[in-house]
Amino acid sequence: MITVWVFGDQLNTAIGALAEASPSTHRVLMVESQRKIASRPWHVQRSHFYLASMRRFADDLRVKGFEVDYRHADTMTAGLAAHRKELKPTSVIATEPNSYRARQLLEQLKVAMVESNQFLCHHTDFAEWASGRKSLKMEDFYRRQRARLGYLMDGESPAGGRWNYDEENRQPPPKKQSDWPWPAPVTDDLDQLDTDVLSALPSTHWGEAPTGLWATSRDGAVRRLRHFVDNVLPMFGPHEDAMLHDNWHLAHSLLSPYMNNGLLLPSEVCDAVQQAFDDGKVPIASAEGFIRQVIGWREYVWGLYWLWMPEYANENALGAVRPLPPAFTDANATKMRCISRCVDDLDKRAYLHHIQRLMILGNLSLTAGVSPHAVTNWMWESFIDGAEWVMVPNVVGMSLHADGGRMATKPYASGGAYVSKMSDYCKGCAYDRTKRVGDDACPFTTLYWDFLLRHQERFVRNPRMSTQVRAAQKLSDGDAVQKRAADVLHMLDTGRL
Ligand SMILES: Cc1cc2nc3c(=O)[nH]c(=O)nc-3n(C[C@H](O)[C@H](O)[C@H](O)COP(=O)(O)OP(=O)(O)OC[C@H]3O[C@@H](n4cnc5c(N)ncnc54)[C@H](O)[C@@H]3O)c2cc1C
Ligand code: SF4
Repeated sequence: MITVWVFGDQLNTAIGALAEASPSTHRVLMVESQRKIASRPWHVQRSHFYLASMRRFADDLRVKGFEVDYRHADTMTAGLAAHRKELKPTSVIATEPNSYRARQLLEQLKVAMVESNQFLCHHTDFAEWASGRKSLKMEDFYRRQRARLGYLMDGESPAGGRWNYDEENRQPPPKKQSDWPWPAPVTDDLDQLDTDVLSALPSTHWGEAPTGLWATSRDGAVRRLRHFVDNVLPMFGPHEDAMLHDNWHLAHSLLSPYMNNGLLLPSEVCDAVQQAFDDGKVPIASAEGFIRQVIGWREYVWGLYWLWMPEYANENALGAVRPLPPAFTDANATKMRCISRCVDDLDKRAYLHHIQRLMILGNLSLTAGVSPHAVTNWMWESFIDGAEWVMVPNVVGMSLHADGGRMATKPYASGGAYVSKMSDYCKGCAYDRTKRVGDDACPFTTLYWDFLLRHQERFVRNPRMSTQVRAAQKLSDGDAVQKRAADVLHMLDTGRL
């Protein structure tokens, strides 16, 4: 028998090596590595999601007739060695894993790799697209993907006559929230398998226990996809960038965990969206806004990871060395209403939407100079959909500008004005978003100006930043801003901000 080794983020029978396998000729190996589970302070919902999904997938494979050797081993290597010793497979194969380190491991262990079809653009195709280009603009890649894959296309032209509906999307929160009845997410009851997984997790795990929000089976993931497409997608887009204190999901799909662990394929997600558009059930701006995220941003991030790893993970162009602020792990360690809300939400569900990640947690990390390595690790441990391939470009490149602008030509730094425009966080906050100096000055506003002054030499040369830097240089209270920033950073470090 040939063994197909399936990793915890490849849980789909249509992926790579498993797609070619048959119960009469192939056996499946899955390994739960105790060392990996205990290696970091993972959010309890994240570990539960991965482990429960693996165990249920193994059960699904058994129903399909496969013999599954599901091992609890100290390490992945030990699991494979024990499998080889006991069951003596003729050979061991695996689908190309999704992380750089796992691919290295398979090479060392002499496991043959089958090309992965888990993403819509293989990273070698991405490298071909990238080769010789002066700049790797997401928009160019996205249009190529649209044309190549045929989503929302009328022949060779984009459906509706435009490639991009961003102008209609990305609005502030609606004035009347009752006009936007964002449907509540689907939940399921937990069962004995969930209890078994949870009771074995080490005490180093943190966060609130799962409530059934995140599916851990193919069936649950497919029901959530249907719910999104039928009930939520028509509202996706316009308020994609908005943040509300009392609504954590708005019209976001909450599908990233399933695309990342394989329970859903990006192609079936996009096919369902295309079908809803063809049936006249969703406006073009919503369909385009969503498809752009999946075939554009998601695949772009995946391609960049493989293009620039392994050096990329260690880049730190702005020399940021601050440790992770206590406020990121304890919602009570700050009076900043925006940070406190996001950290509390993270504790509850291991999820925040894109703008909370980028413009609240990322923005504070960027302007305060928190180490990219610390932020990457913390987010990887904390988010339900965390994985190295997606965390590194999003944190090092997009959020923290630690790659010196290779991915995003301008840093996503902003003051309290942006947060105030795009959220309702500032009302009732202890700080005043309009002030940059004084005891009640908004830390975002102070740190934004201080960031521009600290890095003025670098950013004054950036055409997309020079106006802002020049404005900072002309501030009449520049010294007071820098003094207040030093106090803010001290309070941030000591959990008193
Ligand atoms: C600092 C930071 C960290 C992030 N960490 C992760 C992570 O660990 N895992 C993860 O999957 N995404 C990550 N993202 C991207 C994005 O925030 C999440 O994919 C999204 O919030 C997931 O929620 P959703 O499924 O409801 O997304 P929706 O708003 O419904 O978007 C649809 C889909 O688009 C894809 N997508 C959109 N933007 C991105 C992007 N920049 N990178 C990759 N996929 C994207 C996701 O698959 C998502 O499910 C991060 C972004 C930032 C700025
Ligand atoms: S005033 Fe500043 S700290 Fe308070 S919620 Fe607004 S942006 Fe956040």
